[in-house]
This record gives sequence, C-alpha cells and structure tokens, in this order.
Amino acid sequence: MSEYLIKAEELKVGYSKQVVAENISFTVEKGDIVCVVGENGSGKSTLLKTLLGITKPLGGKISFEGDASSKRFGYLPQLDESQSDFPSTVYEIVASGCISRGKFKLFYNKEDKEIINKYMRLVGIENLAKSRFSSLSGGQRQRTLIARALCTSSSLLFLDEPLNGLDPKFRNDFFELVKTLHENGVTIVMISHDLKQSLSLANKILYIGEECYFGSKEDFLNSKFDNILEGGEHGNI
Ligand code: ADP
Repeated sequence: MSEYLIKAEELKVGYSKQVVAENISFTVEKGDIVCVVGENGSGKSTLLKTLLGITKPLGGKISFEGDASSKRFGYLPQLDESQSDFPSTVYEIVASGCISRGKFKLFYNKEDKEIINKYMRLVGIENLAKSRFSSLSGGQRQRTLIARALCTSSSLLFLDEPLNGLDPKFRNDFFELVKTLHENGVTIVMISHDLKQSLSLANKILYIGEECYFGSKEDFLNSKFDNILEGGEHGNI
C-alpha cells in the first residue's frame, strides 16, 4: 500500500476573502516528484505557502501523514539577488537549517555536524564550507540553500521556481541534483515554469488554473491540459 505524505481535498487557497485557486485535490506519496505548473499568477506560490502553513486555507482540507506529520519541511525559496551579499560562510548557512530541526541552540552537537556534512557532501559543496555565500555562483548558492533545506527535513522538500534566476548553464546540473536527491529518498514538490524539463523529472503533475488537474505524468500528457505545452504564455511551456 502506498504511503501518502500530503492529501489535499477540494482545497481553496488565497488571501483574506480573495480566492486565488480552488478545487485543488492531490496526494503526495513517498518517493514522488510532483511538479506544480500553471500560468503566472495562477496561485502556485500561494498553494505552496498554504502547504507550509504560512497562509491559511480558505476552504477544503489538507492532511499530513507519516514523515510529513511533523509539518517540518525542507524549503528552497526563490533565488533572490538581494540576499546574495550575505556575509556568512556556506557552512554557517547550511548549519542554520538545523536550527529549524528543534529548539534554538547556540552550538551544533555531533549529530547536527554529521547531518550538515552529509548534506554538504550530497549536494557537492563540501569543498566550499569556508567560502562566503556572496562569492558563489548561482548554482553553488542554490546547492547551499538546498543543503540547508535538507538539514531541516530530508523527507519532503519544497522547491519554489528553482530555475528562476539560475544561469541556464547550471540547469542540467540542477536536474541531475534533483535525481540524486530522489535516489536518496527525498520526496519533492517543485513549482516550475519549465514544464518541458519538469516532465522529464516528475512522476505526477499538478496543474493550477481556472480548472485544476492532478494526475500521473502519462495521464497529464493525454489530457486537455497538455495543450499548455503548445507554446502558451511561457514559450518554453
Ligand atoms: P504564481 O505563483 O502562480 O505565479 P501567486 O500565488 O504568486 O501565483 O499569486 C496568485 C495571485 O495572488 C496573484 O494575483 C497575486 O497578485 C496574489 N497575491 C500573491 N501574494 C499575495 C498577498 N500576500 N496578498 C494578496 N494577494 C497576493
């Protein structure tokens, strides 16, 4: 029997009384890579904020089970150039992910240090431990923030538009990294405009629009929603 981590039923998301998207139903099972796609402004980030507990659902139901029942998730926010002049080192930034694992602590214990080193190795930045975040390339910054997210939780990782602001030359590296994370047991929910590349990774697609759709990649490709592949607003979609 499959084990689900998140189940959303007839979910309605938005702000105060402004509904942004509704009738959203989906499940995230252990081992899934779910890509959330849709036009700009359709409500993908709002849905993510709702799953992270930042925004309250306006209706419907979300349940978190198994590894997700603690509601502690790894989260990669969109790359923001304004944060790129952090004076901190790579190690300090990755280690800060451990703070969210439990109560605030001034020193990292042996277990924390093992976790920090494990995820720095996994994403391939162990040789950058002492480098300043500000001196890194976009791809290295992204790896640093992914390692930090994994320190918070390595069972379920949310990625918000991970390709935005990333130099195209790092895109293939990023897709290889997602495959590595998946092989290491990380379940991934990823918002992406790059539907073509999302389809190469995802096993399930959640389409957010006037009408929402959720299904396997194969069912999505045979559905009417597949027509967003034909150009649409985003060109690369
Ligand atoms: P997407 O991620 O699909 O591009 P968003 O979820 O960011 O879409 O935005 C969906 C809609 O919600 C947009 O119309 C946006 O202006 C609106 N919105 C986003 N954030 C807020 C907020 N904090 N308060 C009110 N409206 C918001």
